[in-house]
Amino acid sequence: FISIADFRKWVIDLITWFTLLFLVIVILLDSKAQQTEMEWISSPPSGWEEISGLDENYTPIRTYQVCQVMEPNQNNWLRTNWIEKGDAQRIFVELKFTLRDCNSLPGVVGTCKETFNLYYQETDSEVGRNIRENQYVKIDTIAADESFTQGDLGERKMKLNTEVRIIGPLSRRGFYLAFQDVGACIALVSVKVYYKKCWSIIENLATFPDTVTGSEFSSLVEVEGMCVSDAEEEADNSPKMHCSAEGEWLVPIGKCICKAGFHQKGDACEPCGRGFYKSSSQDLQCSRCPAHSYNDREGSWRCDCEDGYYRALSDPPSVACTRPPSAPQNLVYNINQTTVSLEWSPPADTGGRNDVTYRIMCRRCSWEPEECVPCGGNVGYSPQQAGLVDTYVSVVDLLAHANYTFEVEAVNGVSDLSRTQRLFAAVSVATSQAAPSQVSEVIKERVQQRSIQLSWQEPELPNGVITEYEIKYYEKEQKDRIYSTVKSRSTSATVNNLKPSTAYVFQIRAFTAAGYGTFGPRVEVTTKEEASGTTATIVSSEQNPVIIIAVVAVAGTIILVFMVFGFIIGRRHCGYSKADQEGDEELYFQFKFPGTKTYIDPETYEDPNRAVHQFAKELDASCIKIERVIGAGEFGEVCSGRLKLPGKRDTSVAIKTLKVGYSEKQRRDFLCEASIMGQFDHPNVVHLEGVVTRGKPVMIVIEYMENGSLDAFLRKHDGQFTVIQLVGMLRGIAAGMRYLSDMGYVHRDLAARNILVNSNLVCKVSDFGLSRVIDDDPEAVYTTTGGKIPVRWTAMEAIQYRKFTSASDVWSYGIVMWEVMSYGERPYWDMSNQDVIKAIEEGYRLPAPMDCPPGLHQLMLDCWQKERADRPKFDQIVGILDKMIRNPNTLKTPVGTCTRPISPLLDQSTPDFAAFRSVGEWLDAIKMERYRDNFTAAGYSSLESVARMSIEDVMSLGITLVGHQKKIMSSIQTMRAQMLHLHGTGIQV
Ligand code: AMP
Repeated sequence: FISIADFRKWVIDLITWFTLLFLVIVILLDSKAQQTEMEWISSPPSGWEEISGLDENYTPIRTYQVCQVMEPNQNNWLRTNWIEKGDAQRIFVELKFTLRDCNSLPGVVGTCKETFNLYYQETDSEVGRNIRENQYVKIDTIAADESFTQGDLGERKMKLNTEVRIIGPLSRRGFYLAFQDVGACIALVSVKVYYKKCWSIIENLATFPDTVTGSEFSSLVEVEGMCVSDAEEEADNSPKMHCSAEGEWLVPIGKCICKAGFHQKGDACEPCGRGFYKSSSQDLQCSRCPAHSYNDREGSWRCDCEDGYYRALSDPPSVACTRPPSAPQNLVYNINQTTVSLEWSPPADTGGRNDVTYRIMCRRCSWEPEECVPCGGNVGYSPQQAGLVDTYVSVVDLLAHANYTFEVEAVNGVSDLSRTQRLFAAVSVATSQAAPSQVSEVIKERVQQRSIQLSWQEPELPNGVITEYEIKYYEKEQKDRIYSTVKSRSTSATVNNLKPSTAYVFQIRAFTAAGYGTFGPRVEVTTKEEASGTTATIVSSEQNPVIIIAVVAVAGTIILVFMVFGFIIGRRHCGYSKADQEGDEELYFQFKFPGTKTYIDPETYEDPNRAVHQFAKELDASCIKIERVIGAGEFGEVCSGRLKLPGKRDTSVAIKTLKVGYSEKQRRDFLCEASIMGQFDHPNVVHLEGVVTRGKPVMIVIEYMENGSLDAFLRKHDGQFTVIQLVGMLRGIAAGMRYLSDMGYVHRDLAARNILVNSNLVCKVSDFGLSRVIDDDPEAVYTTTGGKIPVRWTAMEAIQYRKFTSASDVWSYGIVMWEVMSYGERPYWDMSNQDVIKAIEEGYRLPAPMDCPPGLHQLMLDCWQKERADRPKFDQIVGILDKMIRNPNTLKTPVGTCTRPISPLLDQSTPDFAAFRSVGEWLDAIKMERYRDNFTAAGYSSLESVARMSIEDVMSLGITLVGHQKKIMSSIQTMRAQMLHLHGTGIQV
């Protein structure tokens, strides 16, 4: 238990403490708190007097009293000790005192006063004990509210007065207070001096420090707040408060907010927990990690994506992590000449995003899947190549007759971040034939009175082999514009029978197997004025047969003389002698196409070096860059590389080199090929770029044929081309051969292995070495007639008595046709050369390859006519193939059947089918025994039932390899033919 007095004291202390806390005051002087003597200065000493007493609460206190009311003219001063003011500018002085009512004091009228005066003096330090009254500044005259009051019981009760005065602004370090008594009866119970302060506070997550109030009553002190830890100032809104004169914080402005990764709890910022994040200080709360993301640490501003999931740069941390879409679905294409339209469905999985677009990758594949290169800038995309929103695109300006791969990839905002493999849908597409592009560069070569000679460049995109050009022209001034046309096989033409001094307008277009291209721009040419007296007309040889004959006769005579002369003097040969050929053949060719250049046998030159330089350009070795070895030739390596001639674009070339340590004969023979090739200029004959003879190694530089030799190329792409494509290749070879035969050149070794194929599937005749047939061609064997001959490709008369002519080349061409249509099958399979010769002599011929249109097989059989005069000429072959290409319906054939009876060839490699007793034996013989069970399971137990099988039947057995289907089918066809031939069975062939 405590006493009532103690309890009172305790309550008072508590209230004081709260007052200190909340009334925000700093006490400089509190007389009541002092228990010992205060030792203030009293002047005169008889005036104010220090006395111990009890306050109104009966607490012992020190007080000063004065009560000289009886005497007049009192002037008693009491001065406090020096008070250091600290930070204060505005000081509060609280006085508690009692004052006696003069009326209660008898006999004091005139001298008794009821007020006293309060003064202060500012100094920087203590100043002596003397009081210099004039140095004090009066604060106020203090009067009592009430002096004494009459108590209920009649006793007089002292009333305690409280007065507060304010001084300031103060500028010195400290001050004194002084009390002047002029004759009152006063007891100074307490003197309290203090100033006010705004205490440190946290408001809006900002800490405001202790701040002393301003000097004026009305002043507000502006204070900047400091953000608590893990908080930051809100943008453009820094925290501020104002400390009022009363020590109160007023007018808060701005605030702090918890940084990303932290959230507010009370007056502090706490980190977000695991699995939560807060991306920005603007957010109020931490949020749970979005889908496919996680974090395992506190205080995160974002969550990390799970493996395989990503966040695009533009994705806010609040959205789920996403992944690249799956591949587009159901990719389909449609080919229209050189335009491929692709269409697809959206991917099954968009990866969780809605910004899926599509991009297209186009690669051109040169018929070698592993040799695909990006299509480059010449190809156009509609509407665009990447960023496609819709699920379709058209790819335009592709090359005709070329193989392309298109990859369609679905992409979204995170595709580029993903390191996983790209997912795309792909199609391989072969473009179809397309008409050639425009002939645009036309040059006026010669302008006469009645004729104009024009030449032009091949169109930029021939899209195939240009077989002719059509020149359309009309008189410019003529009203009804009647067109005339002239055709030309080469890139120049002379238009005759024109009127002098007349303006003509010309337009040219090219023709290929795919049809006519569009006409090029109009070119205007005016013929010359007619010179008086001149009437002679220059007529093109094509347009005037009489002149043809005259010119031909003269030319023929000259050539004949030349040839005979060459034959007599020029018996130096690169290899076998062309002079072995009979003169009538030479004449036949030279007279047939008198307009064409004639081939000159290099061996007619005394100096073979002269022949080379006559026909081949000498190249500077520095223009040639050899890149890699691509094959082995007879005289050395064959390499691929680049040729960069001054002022021309660099081109891909094949470089045949002559190995070191060669003999003079070898060099001559090597360069012989260049001397021959250099005379030719035709799109279907391999083009010679030039030779390097004045350096080592000696080189022959030829245009590069990306797909190598035709036989290997076809075997590699077995079954991959359309019949039209195959016929297109054959047409090219025939055109090249027509050109060679027109020039009077007999190839002697025409075979698919000697045809090269470029990246556009254009076939070109190659291998012109004179000695090659003898030395180089592995197919060439010695025959009974002495020469070395590629028997399977060679016409009977050439095998029998070395009668090599263009007609024997036609025979070889028929074999090439068979090779092409059977995708590089070996002619006469594995029959021996002797058996081949025998079979041919007996009238047997190769059967139609599988899927071969009957018309084509008929053409082969025509090429293999016994009488060489009965064989078609190359010119006719080209015409027949052109017709087929123009009417593709004629090339349609029921799958696996040949509707036309053929002279069956007895396949000598297998015995007579009658000799087989079972299907198993037959399969053994054709090395297809692995399918024995397939035949048995499907019920094909007899050879008769096998002979009736169609290709569909063979396929239905589960034989999927095209090569095997072909082998079996071809054997079945032979079997069928044999049965018909030998037994007269009723099997339809
Ligand atoms: P050759 O000596 O002409 O039989 O050439 C040997 C091999 O080199 C041929 O089988 C082709 O594979 C290759 N080759 C020859 N000429 C070319 C060419 N112009 N372009 C590409 N490859 C060629």
